[in-house]
Amino acid sequence: MALPFRLPRFRRLRTRLTVLYAALVVAAMLGMSTTLLAIAQRSATDQVQRELAASGTVFDRLWSQRAAELGGAAGLLARDFGFRAAVATGDKATIVSALVNLKRRMGVPIAFVVGVDGNVTGLADPGLAGQAAGLWNALDGGQMSGVVQLGGSARHVIAAPILTPQLTGWVVFATNLDAREMQGLQSLSAIPIQAAVFQRRGDGRWADPADREAGALSGFIDRAAKDRLVSDVTTPNGTALALVKPLPVMTGSPQAVLMLRYPLDQALAGYHRLQYAILLAGLLGLLGTVFATIRMARSITRPITLLDAAAARLAAGNEARVPVEGNDELARLAESFNRMATDIAERERRITHLAFNDTLTDLPNRAHFLEHVEHELKLAERNDERVAVMILDLDDFKSVNDTLGHPVGDEVLRRVAARIDGDLAQSFVARLGGDEFVIVTRQAADGEPFERLAKRAGEAAAEHMRIDGHDVTQTASIGIAISPADGMDARSLLKHADLALYRAKELGRGMFCFFEEALNSRAQERRRIESDLRTALHEGQFELHFQPLFDLDANRVGSFEALIRWNHPTRGMVSPLDFIPVAEDTGLIVEIGAWVLREACAQAAAWPDHVRIAVNVSSVQFRRPGLNETVMQALAASGLAPGRLELEITESIFLEGLEETTRLLHGLRALGVRIALDDFGTGYSSLSYLQSFPFDKIKIDRSFIQDLLTRPGAVAIVRAITDLARALGMETTAEGVEENDQLAELRKHGCSSVQGYLFSRPIDAAAVRELLAESTPRRAAAA
Ligand code: C2E
Ligand code: MG
Ligand code: MG
Repeated sequence: MALPFRLPRFRRLRTRLTVLYAALVVAAMLGMSTTLLAIAQRSATDQVQRELAASGTVFDRLWSQRAAELGGAAGLLARDFGFRAAVATGDKATIVSALVNLKRRMGVPIAFVVGVDGNVTGLADPGLAGQAAGLWNALDGGQMSGVVQLGGSARHVIAAPILTPQLTGWVVFATNLDAREMQGLQSLSAIPIQAAVFQRRGDGRWADPADREAGALSGFIDRAAKDRLVSDVTTPNGTALALVKPLPVMTGSPQAVLMLRYPLDQALAGYHRLQYAILLAGLLGLLGTVFATIRMARSITRPITLLDAAAARLAAGNEARVPVEGNDELARLAESFNRMATDIAERERRITHLAFNDTLTDLPNRAHFLEHVEHELKLAERNDERVAVMILDLDDFKSVNDTLGHPVGDEVLRRVAARIDGDLAQSFVARLGGDEFVIVTRQAADGEPFERLAKRAGEAAAEHMRIDGHDVTQTASIGIAISPADGMDARSLLKHADLALYRAKELGRGMFCFFEEALNSRAQERRRIESDLRTALHEGQFELHFQPLFDLDANRVGSFEALIRWNHPTRGMVSPLDFIPVAEDTGLIVEIGAWVLREACAQAAAWPDHVRIAVNVSSVQFRRPGLNETVMQALAASGLAPGRLELEITESIFLEGLEETTRLLHGLRALGVRIALDDFGTGYSSLSYLQSFPFDKIKIDRSFIQDLLTRPGAVAIVRAITDLARALGMETTAEGVEENDQLAELRKHGCSSVQGYLFSRPIDAAAVRELLAESTPRRAAAA
């Protein structure tokens, strides 16, 4: 149901409760006081009614008593012998004297005698005498008492017959019915009633004894005279309760009534006091209720208010607990709230932990690291300290995963993490991802040298471990950047440590390297190379040089290795050592490698049949599909016999998985080409790969040859390799032979061929043709 007005809305529960209770109490009190007042009014009215009715009866009695008293006195006079004689003889003087006596004695204003002939004696006023004569009819009819209109006002008339013995006239008394007379009646009543006589006038309206019109009362008198009940009447002076009694009248006289009135105001005066008392009690009660309700509402809403405030604090992400009082529903709610707040805090803690920690090792993660470094940098700036960021990367971790499986790999990471974290308790250790960890140390300039820290970290990571029956020995490379010199924020420190790591990796396994500005320019250089490489191939900036491999048994050049050269428009010749890694990283090596194969085969096709061509194939080319097709196309396009093409691969191809690699190698071998293992001895488990695939040739890395005569044991290694190769039916080539003594030593150990500056540096295609044109084979032994 729609209300025609809007109920006010209170924002606070406490106000709402207070208003509701106060309204209920006011309504109850209103109802109660209305009933009380109604009852009080009813009883007051009843009492007045009873009083009025009693007054009416008293009046009746007084009326008849007066009539009897006056009637008796009149009768006494009427029977007096002297008086009767005076009436019979018409002795007016005696009659008047007797009447005057009687008037004085009885206290009546008017007394006279009406003769049977209608003559009136005893009234000096002729007008009055005339009116008195009018009574004759009634008297003659035997009416001895009643109200008449006499001398301009209503009067009560009482008569007694004069018998001599026959009827000669009547003695008549008339008393007043005016206000004074009525006062006597009023004083007899227990309550202050107003009594008044009204007479009906010729025009039908009622008038008081002084002939003043009754006005508004006229209608009421008509009605009330009929049912003779006490009822309300409204007069110009207010409402009153009134009783109307018709009075007996003499025949021929106008109707008369007595009206007894009691103003309601007066009747209810006591009741008004009650009213005020009730009102006062109600007000006090209301105040008390409002006060009590406010207190009660406060006690009810206090826990709710506390909960509300706590919920707001919780929403704002703050600690929020509410006191639990008692064990009612609100207390249980408070308890649940506290439990919920605790759960939320716990969950938040877990989420934060997950967000800032690595799940595998439980070390802080990259996000945590970045935050931590920023924090440390601020502290360092204030205390004039340095912050070192060291990135530690496990060397060749991929092969652990590939050869021993991921579960072992994960365990390695977990143990390495625990070791670094344990050994460098003063530092912050985080896992950046994969096999990369980062160590953050803040210290004063005279603290433990960072080299020592780096060494300790490297040693911790490199400690031997045994997992699931596998022996794992790990090395780690470390790149270090130090604030403020190497960067003032986490990201630049991380970037620079990464460049240093890259450099450390280049230096070999288990090395660490500090960042220096040159590394930055190297990185920029690398980016420039990368962008230039994209156009180099199409603009024909590449060129092939060839380095001869001298066959020691046949004592002649057995083959040439194709080595790419980049003739850069501005930098001149760029070494493959500088751009091949970039080409590999970007994948451009696939396209470049294909060009090398085509070009090398095309050149070699023009050479004598016994001269082979060796082409380097990158592991990236090897991994991408389509190498077989590229080789076939190069052979087909050049017409070179497959047996004259040798592909040089490095151990790095085995990182992708042994089985898959040998499958691909067999696929290439099936084309009829030869496969050589390049840079042998630099890898991790070179010897084990020899078992995996029957290579046609092993190229012993230059590093062995360089140290051949100086490092003890180097000869033994070379000897072991040549022996093993011979046993497996593989040829051997020694790379980087620069000196005759080296050559002599290699000859001793049965190396199949040698390559190096001692015979020739890499030369261009024209020079190769010249060299091959010299019919006389070069005598290595003679040199
Ligand atoms: P690599 O395959 O081991 O090639 C031999 C490298 O040793 C060549 O360097 C060669 O010039 C150098 N060398 C030969 N004899 C001596 C010596 O007596 N003393 C010294 N100090 N060095 C000697 P280069 O041409 O700079 O090539 C470096 C590497 O770049 C190659 O090593 C090879 O891995 C890669 N490379 C060159 N051309 C290609 C290519 O076309 N494709 C691919 N994928 N890699 C290539
Ligand atoms: Mg090579
Ligand atoms: Mg090599």
